[in-house]
Formats: sequence, structure tokens, C-alpha cells
Amino acid sequence: MKFIPKKPREGINVSDEHPLVEAGTLIVGLTAIFVAIALLLVFVIEIALYFVPAKTEANLFSGWMPEDLVTVSPADERLNQTQLLVNRLAAHWAEAPYEFRLEIDDSDIANAMALPGGLIIVTQGLLDQVESENELAFVLGHELGHFRNRDHLRALGRGVVISLFFAVITGNDVAGLGIKATDITLRGFSREQESKADEFGLAVVRSEYGHVNQASRLFERWASETDNGLAITAYLSTHPQPGDRVENLRFIAVRDGWRTDGQVTPLSW
Ligand SMILES: [Zn+2]
Repeated sequence: MKFIPKKPREGINVSDEHPLVEAGTLIVGLTAIFVAIALLLVFVIEIALYFVPAKTEANLFSGWMPEDLVTVSPADERLNQTQLLVNRLAAHWAEAPYEFRLEIDDSDIANAMALPGGLIIVTQGLLDQVESENELAFVLGHELGHFRNRDHLRALGRGVVISLFFAVITGNDVAGLGIKATDITLRGFSREQESKADEFGLAVVRSEYGHVNQASRLFERWASETDNGLAITAYLSTHPQPGDRVENLRFIAVRDGWRTDGQVTPLSW
């Protein structure tokens, strides 16, 4: 039999799909792969950052201020007194790798946060709400607890994570990166992180005053107010329900046999 070569039919290498549909599929597929790789990379970096020694973190962020922070005057009495209180409380954490800096944000909305490098921010609104030094000490002690557990590194937003990663690699500090406090506090802490921070905060307060009287008084007031109003919504949105915290703190005090009576120190302003 003689083989008669036959020309393949016209367009055999062209798929039956419309070329635009094919291009679309390709683009979607490539994008999906790219996004998956990027997400994986950020995830790996987040874990890697957690292993950056606290000392390195403190150096990277020394002198750093969030871009969106409106600070009060350096001569503000509340600023000086609260910084002194932070120092006294931090003294009970013997191996603290940070030199804690306190700043007051000129906002009427109550909030407190722990930011990289040992920066603690409280708002004017929070200071307006506290009625004794013991109440303030617990709020600050709680933030110290986040540093202790390094929660503040786990709560970083994606953009900050990537910037920080390159800062670590290149050895630059982050002062010029324009990082905002709101970039960092995008993700809240888990319930477990919060209750661990509460436990540490209470232990610090107890070491400072010899008792935990009125440490949770601020939250007792907030829990009993049915209409909390705008002034404290920010703090409540980033922390567990005040009623639950009060209960948990009472439990810790009883469990550890800590005094719940004792002299309450008035605010110095
Ligand atoms: Zn917290």
C-alpha cells in the first residue's frame, strides 16, 4: 500500500477556544499562582520576624514614631508622670529587652497600644477615664504583657511586615518608612494573647503596690455602663469585654492569693 502524505487540516495547532478566553484563563491562572506565592512569602516572613531578637527590634525602632501620632507637648505633666509610672512598672520585669517609651496621643477616644521597639501609646481619652494610679498601672501593665509575649510583632499588618523584613535584611532603621500606628494595630490580638497580657499586667501591679486593689476598677465602671458611648469604643474594639476581664482578673487574684484590699494611690495630676 502506498502511503499518501496528507496535509493536516488548516488550524490544527489552534485551539477551539476563542483566543481571548484562552488569554483570560492564562492571566487568571498566573495571577492566582503569584498571589499564592506572595501570601506564602508574607506568612514565612511573619514567622521569621517573630525570631528577630527583641534587642534587634528595639534597635530598629529606636526613636521611631508612627506617622499618624499627634503627640502632646513634651512638657505635659501627664506625659512625664505616666512615663515615670511605666518605668516603675517595667522595673518589675527584670530582663526586659526594651527601654519603654511612653507617648500620649492627643485623641479623645480612649485607647492604649503596644508598638514595636517598646513604644507604648495611651490617648488623652484614656487618661481622662482613669481615676487612680492603680487603674492606669494595670492598663500599662497589660501593654507590657504584650511586649513580654511579643504579641505586638504578631499583630503587624502585611505592609509593615514586608517593610520591616527589608529593614532587618539591609540593617536600616525603620524611622523613614512612614509606618502608621493604624497599619500596625490592624489586626487585633487573640483572646488568649489578651488574657495572658492581663495576667502579666496584674502581676506587675501586685509587685508595685503589694496588692491588686482597684486594678480592674476602670473595667468595672465600663462594664456597668450600658451605653458606653464613642469615647471608649476604640479600646473596647481592641480588647475583650470589660466584664469578662474583671471576672478573669478576680479569678487570678484569688488563685494566686493576692490581696484585693490595700491603699489606692491617687493620680498625681
Ligand atoms: Zn491587649
